Amino acid sequence: MKNRREFLKTTSLLAAGGLLAGKSGIVSAAEVAAPSMVQKKVSKVIGLQIYSLGRELHEDVAGGLKKVAKMGYSTIELAGYNDGKIGNVSMADFKKMSDDAGLKITSTHVNPSVREYTKANKQQIMDFWKKAADDHAKIGVKYLIQPGQPATRSTEEVAYVGEIFTEAGKIAKAAGLSFGYHNHDGEFARVIPGGKEAMERLPWGQKPPEGIEIIYDGMLRHTDPSLVFFEMDVYWTVMGRQDPVEYMQKYADRIRVLHIKDRAVLGQSGMMNFEMIFKQAYANRISDYFVELEKYSGGTQFEGVKGCADYLLKAKFVK
Ligand code: MG
Repeated sequence: MKNRREFLKTTSLLAAGGLLAGKSGIVSAAEVAAPSMVQKKVSKVIGLQIYSLGRELHEDVAGGLKKVAKMGYSTIELAGYNDGKIGNVSMADFKKMSDDAGLKITSTHVNPSVREYTKANKQQIMDFWKKAADDHAKIGVKYLIQPGQPATRSTEEVAYVGEIFTEAGKIAKAAGLSFGYHNHDGEFARVIPGGKEAMERLPWGQKPPEGIEIIYDGMLRHTDPSLVFFEMDVYWTVMGRQDPVEYMQKYADRIRVLHIKDRAVLGQSGMMNFEMIFKQAYANRISDYFVELEKYSGGTQFEGVKGCADYLLKAKFVK
């Protein structure tokens, strides 16, 4: 005979109804309620990049974060870091507000102020990362991620950017964080040795001929895998005319975090195969991903962000 725990497991969908109480006759109301609480504990862990809320969040951060948690999000990725603050809120306060809302700050997006990386400004970039890493370590953030593409016009520049990323990775690691890079579509342009300008993206799915490299591939090649991971924005990869699933298969050990994004609210454009993306993410044991929404024209940013959560909560392929 099945014990109570096993029984609840196999009948989880019915347990909240009267079935259980009717069968045993001695199950209390509190016990009947227990299975749904168990279900809640193992529910989907959905992250949100707070950039998606735009200025609306900053009108009332504490209240806004509570709304986000209520939609079903449980982790967030910060945006808007500037000199120890997120927007106008000190990082310590932001952390407290997140805790109060029941949201875990897992990640952050931070860009150094320079776009051209040279030997002359290397130290300036490293000083920036040191402060950013220390500030985020204080509030227990796991991932320190650069979302903006530095100048990469030639194979040599891509190699140097890779070197800088690896150095930033060392600094992040020393502070207890992992350094990552987030793409848009510009990284799927191509470069050649001695090039003056990146070349157009390839037609859909095409591989570059010998001697020409996709910038993203060069970034992967020129960074130390033990110090730099990649947060793949699946929407921007598609906009770069490449298949995110193919990249996730090829670089399973490098692409460790995802941005789950569509043209607007997830699933509405029909251009993103999120089922395949999630299938590959689980195969790669990716545990962290963040929903992202650009400026939304169908309503408020909060409404758009809720639409994205609803899509993921409903999707059978999201565990
Ligand atoms: Mg993104």
